[in-house]
Amino acid sequence: MKIAVLSGKGGTGKTLVSVNLAVAAKEAVYIDCDVEEPNGHLFFEPKPIGSEQIVIKIPVVDEKLCNGCRKCVEFCKFNALAYINNKLIVFDEVCHSCGGCMLFCPEKALAEKEKMIGEVQYGVSENVTVVTGILNIGEASGIPIIKNLLNYAKGEQAITFIDCPPGSACIVMESIKDADYCILVAEPTFF
Ligand code: SF4
Ligand code: SF4
Repeated sequence: MKIAVLSGKGGTGKTLVSVNLAVAAKEAVYIDCDVEEPNGHLFFEPKPIGSEQIVIKIPVVDEKLCNGCRKCVEFCKFNALAYINNKLIVFDEVCHSCGGCMLFCPEKALAEKEKMIGEVQYGVSENVTVVTGILNIGEASGIPIIKNLLNYAKGEQAITFIDCPPGSACIVMESIKDADYCILVAEPTFF
């Protein structure tokens, strides 16, 4: 079973609830999807088992092949490409790694390069497997890290608690997409 714990904003006690539910379960996986400011591990102090780097693929242009047709610029719905002063510019931070521009370029002038955007760390604290996602400072999207984190959710034996990022942006939607239940931690204000 997967239970996601959400809040409309930061500071409502979402992590406090997730951590305590995980400790109270017989066997649990705690996944910290709040990748911009993960702090659940501070409560668990898990014994480290391993980590993996999260890498995305972004386009890189071969200027010798590029003829400036701008088809890739028109194709990219994320405005991650611009053709300025006879040069194609790639804005890594807003590229969603869809790969479409590479398929679309008639001159085959675009290839992929890898970029490390963060890390997933995992460890154990008594009955809880603790998995933490960390987005590098300056990166715009933690969604590739969330996708990797959710691979650690266990099905039958253990309950997985997903400590979501605050708010309701697409990174939150990604965190809850496979959840069986959601718990909303609210504070007593209109917000
Ligand atoms: S589609 Fe290809 S050739 Fe055209 S501007 Fe983009 S990279 Fe250059
Ligand atoms: S990979 Fe996708 S998102 Fe990134 S620049 Fe190309 S079309 Fe845009």
